[in-house]
Amino acid sequence: MESYKGRFEPTRFEDLTVTVDFHCHSACRFCIVQEGMNYYKGVPFELYEAAVADNRRAKRYRRVTFTGGEVTLEKRLFDYIDIARDSQSFEHIRIQTNGRLFADRAFARRVVDAGVDEFFVSLHGHDAATQDYISQRPGSFDEAIRGLENLRELGVCILTNTVLTTLNEPTLAAIVDTVRPFAPARMEWWNYLPMEDYADELGLLSPMSELAPSLREALARARDYGIESAVKYVPRCLLGEHGESQDNTQPDVVIVEEFYDKYPKFACIHEAACEHGDTCLGLHHPYITKFGWEEDVLVPFPRATPWREPEYGLWVGSDRPGEGTAIPTDQPRWAGLVVGVAERHRARLANVMLQRRACVYRFELGEGATVDVLLTARSEAPALARSASFNLQYRNLQADLSAPGLRERLSALVEDAIQTVIARDPGGMHLDARKGLVGDDSVRRRPRRAKALRVLDGSEP
Ligand code: SF4
Repeated sequence: MESYKGRFEPTRFEDLTVTVDFHCHSACRFCIVQEGMNYYKGVPFELYEAAVADNRRAKRYRRVTFTGGEVTLEKRLFDYIDIARDSQSFEHIRIQTNGRLFADRAFARRVVDAGVDEFFVSLHGHDAATQDYISQRPGSFDEAIRGLENLRELGVCILTNTVLTTLNEPTLAAIVDTVRPFAPARMEWWNYLPMEDYADELGLLSPMSELAPSLREALARARDYGIESAVKYVPRCLLGEHGESQDNTQPDVVIVEEFYDKYPKFACIHEAACEHGDTCLGLHHPYITKFGWEEDVLVPFPRATPWREPEYGLWVGSDRPGEGTAIPTDQPRWAGLVVGVAERHRARLANVMLQRRACVYRFELGEGATVDVLLTARSEAPALARSASFNLQYRNLQADLSAPGLRERLSALVEDAIQTVIARDPGGMHLDARKGLVGDDSVRRRPRRAKALRVLDGSEP
């Protein structure tokens, strides 16, 4: 069984990210969508429109984020924004950007006037020499800074994103000084994830012995300036007093599913012994391959509860800049499908886990007995039953079935849960379908040279 660390699915289900296209006018040396720019298409406009229409009905997402590539280059950018704004179904509209085009004050104003209120701006170097070297575009730092100045004057919410590599690792705290004048609501620090250079031939992976102290210095400086931080893909035990800033959640992304297949997987040798083993991803596999397990560097926090292999991803809340880290939230519509079932069987609905491809209800019947009822998108695949929107099954049964009456209670509960979902499912509830873009339509025709590259990541023989 592959845990959620293997599948990489700690999803923030209240945030929708739309990949508009993969083109960009910078060429960052670490870019995780570099391969995608040549290969994947953006989301078809009709699919985006359908996702917004769905949100108008279901109020599933609080925020929509446009990303790419560089979305400010997209010819239909304002069509995307207009549809999101006119739907009145999102509290926030965010753009993820390298910030360069916002150096044009008129353009920045036009985007803000159109309804974008959050700008997630990438800044990977504290000065022009570092940033321009990383982006491979002279002048990109100055443009981004002018863009940040314009956005600051326009009074919008600014967040920054810094990818941690050997190229900026010595100067992370200086980046905090660089962005401080723009009063970002949050600075995000994303450890570099190789998407094709798994052997790190480019030498971008920074060893934790060097990265962690530099990052802690930057986090301390941000805290001193009153700037919130969020760190992704760095072991929590290496963040010192800034452990709370670890946030490995991701929004729900409308993107080709294959994109996630290329994400590195994670592991920690201390996972079962560590209190944070459920939320901390540990180290990614390419890092472990290069630097080892770091068993003497990572320091597990003693567990207060017994270890249990986490089978599903975590259910986490929205990303609220300036309001602390993501928190678990209620999802009334999903919980409502089984409300009352547990009580009818002297059981407890212990958890509702909503992730990209499944909704899982975990019922506890006492004395350690638990069972999960699992909803996946309706299909012709084998299932115990089908409702209007879902295939239904049960799994992960943990019980001493020799206990008197327990088997019957479990059966009755599962049967009741399934019949209740069937009765209440109005149809049109989406798990997988809105992801779209699976299969041949999701990719551009691939040039011969690029096809050869694919062999390197082991995806083809
Ligand atoms: S010991 Fe492992 S699971 Fe625990 S905080 Fe460190 S890296 Fe994370």
